[in-house]
Amino acid sequence: VPKRLKPAFTTTSICGYCATGCQLKLHLDEEGRAINLSPQAGYPVNLGMACPKGWQALDPLDSADRATVPLLRDPDGKMVPVSWAEALETFTTRMKAIKEQHGRDAVAFLSTGQIPFEEMSLLGCLFKFGMGFLHGDANTRQCMATAVTAYKQSFGFDAPPYTYADFEESDVLVFIGSNLCIAHPILWQRVMRNKRNPKIIVIDPRATETAQAATQHIALKPKGDLALLYALAHCIIRDGRTDAESIARTEGFEELAAFLQDYSPAAVAERTGMSVEEIEALAHTVSEPGKRVSWWWTMGVNQSYEGVRTAQAMINLALITGNIGKPGTGANSITGQCNAMGSRLFSNTTSLTGGHEFAYAEHREKVAAGLGIPVESIPSEASMAYDQILAAAEEGKIKGLWIIATNPFHSWIDSGRLEALREKLEFLVVQDMYHSTESARAADLVLPAAGWGEKDGCFINSERRIGTLKKVRQAPGIALSDFRILRLIANAWGCGEMFAKWTDPEAAFRLLRDLTKDRPCDITGIEGYEMIDRMGGIQWPFPADRGEDRPAPGEERRLFSDGIYYTPSGKAKLLFSPPAELPEDTDSAYPYLLLTGRGTSSQWHTQSRTGKSDILRKLYPQEAYIEVNPADAARLGLKEHDPVQVSSRRGEMQAFVYLAPTVKPGQLFLPMHYPEVNRLTHPSFDPHSRQPNYKACAVALKKVRPH
Ligand code: SF4
Repeated sequence: VPKRLKPAFTTTSICGYCATGCQLKLHLDEEGRAINLSPQAGYPVNLGMACPKGWQALDPLDSADRATVPLLRDPDGKMVPVSWAEALETFTTRMKAIKEQHGRDAVAFLSTGQIPFEEMSLLGCLFKFGMGFLHGDANTRQCMATAVTAYKQSFGFDAPPYTYADFEESDVLVFIGSNLCIAHPILWQRVMRNKRNPKIIVIDPRATETAQAATQHIALKPKGDLALLYALAHCIIRDGRTDAESIARTEGFEELAAFLQDYSPAAVAERTGMSVEEIEALAHTVSEPGKRVSWWWTMGVNQSYEGVRTAQAMINLALITGNIGKPGTGANSITGQCNAMGSRLFSNTTSLTGGHEFAYAEHREKVAAGLGIPVESIPSEASMAYDQILAAAEEGKIKGLWIIATNPFHSWIDSGRLEALREKLEFLVVQDMYHSTESARAADLVLPAAGWGEKDGCFINSERRIGTLKKVRQAPGIALSDFRILRLIANAWGCGEMFAKWTDPEAAFRLLRDLTKDRPCDITGIEGYEMIDRMGGIQWPFPADRGEDRPAPGEERRLFSDGIYYTPSGKAKLLFSPPAELPEDTDSAYPYLLLTGRGTSSQWHTQSRTGKSDILRKLYPQEAYIEVNPADAARLGLKEHDPVQVSSRRGEMQAFVYLAPTVKPGQLFLPMHYPEVNRLTHPSFDPHSRQPNYKACAVALKKVRPH
């Protein structure tokens, strides 16, 4: 081993990309600086494995385009370096001027599921309670707002019920809209560890990598999933293959059964593209007595115009067949970002921090008392959602926008609109690791932030497991952690006293921990970061007082084993609505249905970090490609690698043809990692969750020059 690779010390940190929450072992030199890493053996999540992004997690820290000093746009439009003092003065003067002239609704923030929840919560508390604004949302709206809403409505709290061991303990695993092999590769390894000879069913319009590895692939028509799930429930109720004990713990069964009368297999066959026999056989498989059945979904469901009802159709199936609260079961949302689950509990955007609601006076009083702030400083209204904030900016009602650790100029649906609304903004601040993202390049002020590996805090993974991340590098130049930037802004704004208890991330953790008392996400039994590390992460809930009928503090691996839900009645709700039509279907002008999604395990979202790694770039084409069925390609005279123009009613882009029988004729697939992709997508939203519908829009395809 070369000397430079021999670690003087090691420490551990949760990976900063996806919500799997793998723990990495960081190798440090004598100065405590990370020089290398390896996956942590024995951590109960990743069991010594990591995907390419985790292995290369240190690379993006050394990129030449790191934001190292604050940058301010001068009158000539150039970005010039300024001191922190000038940056803070500019920030507060401009934001205060907008507030005085246009009111508290005229400024908003857009944040992220990528930073520790101590920072998220400080941001939300500072912005709303200290600075006196109302509207802020996070990019978690783009990945899991649907799951949040579905669980809240059905269970009474946003509570994914499962643990990763359920992948290994299930007899039948049904994945809908989840390309687990690519999006959550370590979780796919957990599926592969299942020794029960499981049936793995993938329901997806594309023959994804996961579908190809499954026992059965059902290539249903795009957005046929809700009708199919209703038909399955129809068959199960018709045939009496339900679980009476589990149904007794629900509300709305009679209404659901009556509603499902109209969803026989024959009635939905055309919409789903499946035969009656295939639907009947699937209904039989997912309701076999004695078999453990688990339902899993990701963005194919969440990023849909009817995602909430689709998720709840899976929840309904789990509830009526008794597949919940037991090993190998559940209706389980697999989350996207490393700390989306932390955002769900603590971000203080559309929900009040610590698992509370702005609308309830007792929640506001409890949070005010816990934080030591006047209750009047906590608004009773929740924030507008992400799309509503941007619509208000388009209308000129929002004049100041503060973007933290996210890149909506690339990632937001119908992203061309961002450029138009930029003209309407008086002041755009971007706080980020890089000055080069599409969003940072549009900013008036860039605040340079430390990244993963350069600060402390906690993430919560998909199975509700809290883990710590560690500072193992110094941020470059005079970049600061988001936590420190927010404290400086609080002082500059004049509300620093309100946040005097938030001295460092662990002090913030203790404040937030205590707020969770008596909520479903109660973590008052956690002493601090050392305990989290010692226990290999801790899943919520983890209350200090667990009652006489429970053992001393230990992990609550799986929810609802007692059959009691978080609704006022203690019963789960069975919710449903008729399926809606695709917001934008194909026609003669735009004859192809465009599907978008993750294209590789080696890139993350807008590539703002993973695109900085030489190794990860080599694992993925840097030029945009589009997957085209060979029959469509033949009809259009296209060959492999031909350049084509893809256009929708909103925009266009160029890509190279990749011949792929894995997409059906009439459908196309574009990976979301390329900046132009969201110029095409159609801005429609789930009415309950306000999550964007990224997965289906109408496009045209044509060759741009001879091969
Ligand atoms: Fe694990 Fe996800 Fe990080 Fe890959 S990106 S190492 S799967 S947490």
